[in-house]
Amino acid sequence: MSFMGRPNTRRNYGKTREAVASVARERIEILIDQAKEMARKNEDLSRRYVDLARRISKRTKTRIPSDVKRYLCKGCGLALVPGHNAKVRLHARSSGIVITCLSCGSVRRYPVNSRINSKKVLRPMKPYIAQTSPFPKKNSSKE
Ligand SMILES: [Zn+2]
Repeated sequence: MSFMGRPNTRRNYGKTREAVASVARERIEILIDQAKEMARKNEDLSRRYVDLARRISKRTKTRIPSDVKRYLCKGCGLALVPGHNAKVRLHARSSGIVITCLSCGSVRRYPVNSRINSKKVLRPMKPYIAQTSPFPKKNSSKE
């Protein structure tokens, strides 16, 4: 029975997985760097690099860091370079960070702060009660 099983494979699995992940991370990083560089010269090549990075990520179950992922277009798979092929806008009170791909026009929104929502709820409570002052308009302009 003992010669049938291969205990070493299982025992080393954790180490192997970590080794695979570290190589994958390195390759993904190189590919994304190249994809960003190529975004200026050759968009198709840039998309190809991003595609390869995503495939490595998928196959090895290695995550692409979220701050890197934000600058990969979900629509066309292009590496986004702000000011070149991407528009980045901050709408702090509404939609958060909005990244638009200028190649295919797809828009991604990333909320910035969940506390802003609770502030919004509080705001209607703020306005003063007019009855406390006989001349509310003059008072409010002075303050
Ligand atoms: Zn796109």
